[in-house]
Amino acid sequence: MQSVFSVVIPAFNEEEVIRETYKRLSAVMQSMAEPYELVFVNDGSRDKTAEIIAGLCASDKSVRLVNFSRNFGHMPAISAGMEYARGKAIFIIDADLQDPPEIFPQMAKKWREGYHVVYGQREKRKGESLFKKVSAKLFYRFIRRMTSVNMPVDTGEFRLIDRKVCETVNRLPEKNRYIRGLVSWVGFKQTAVLYVREERFAGKTKYPLRKMIAFAMDAVTAFSYKPLKIATSLGFFVSIASFIYLVAIFYQYFFTETTITGWASTMGILLFTQGIVMMILGLMGEYIGRIYEELKNRPAYIVQEVIEHED
Ligand code: UDP
Ligand code: MG
Repeated sequence: MQSVFSVVIPAFNEEEVIRETYKRLSAVMQSMAEPYELVFVNDGSRDKTAEIIAGLCASDKSVRLVNFSRNFGHMPAISAGMEYARGKAIFIIDADLQDPPEIFPQMAKKWREGYHVVYGQREKRKGESLFKKVSAKLFYRFIRRMTSVNMPVDTGEFRLIDRKVCETVNRLPEKNRYIRGLVSWVGFKQTAVLYVREERFAGKTKYPLRKMIAFAMDAVTAFSYKPLKIATSLGFFVSIASFIYLVAIFYQYFFTETTITGWASTMGILLFTQGIVMMILGLMGEYIGRIYEELKNRPAYIVQEVIEHED
């Protein structure tokens, strides 16, 4: 039977929560009384995640498992789920139950009213460190400023997307896939459902600071070259300031009696400008590296196998 709903669940080392996730999702999906499928994407977990999901496939024919050949990351995992999903509406949700599947019916209702994207927008985040909360708030606002795409703030991948949107996003050729950005970028009729982000049911976050920074860089570079423009302005500003300073030095030398001193100020200015130059070079490197990645045209992920219920 063709599924009306698909649920895409990326999972990386989630053995502690995955059974509970399955239970909660199944309960909600059954309450919606339409054929559904749960598409788990195992992103190269090194624990028992894959075995547990494979076990679920054996007992429940609505469960499918897409196994990656190694860890490719959260966004590639969702991309794969979107490729494999067959439903008319596709839910995307993390495996850790921070986002409540119980609001799926509310999302589906909006979808039936004609919306193509119904994203969950966080009213509040519970049980996360102050640092995570503040950095997340800043991140969403920073991205919004940096890009010309209308991306809603405080919104992750937790959402419902219509088949049409899913296929449109799947067809976008880029390998660096900042999904929430791509979904905003394609347009269609979009709306929000507010919710409270809970604490992780169990396990630890798979986004340490290092990955969070890389993620932010990916997001900005994928949607904007404003940082490069800022670099240009900065260069311009520093040149003008240096020129004015130079004029002042000339004046001092030719028209006043004061001797020109200042190893400290020379070094200070030198290091300052050198710093800026290096920062801009690094920034350009970030873009060039990404151009290189796209150019190589390697797939965003590699699927090792797909496990489904055998009839
Ligand atoms: N995840 C993944 N691959 C990764 C990192 C994370 O598939 O390399 C999954 C993870 O299992 C979870 C979701 O992405 O379902 C979000 O990760 P997490 O909850 O650790 O992030 P946080 O909520 O702390 O930002
Ligand atoms: Mg989480």
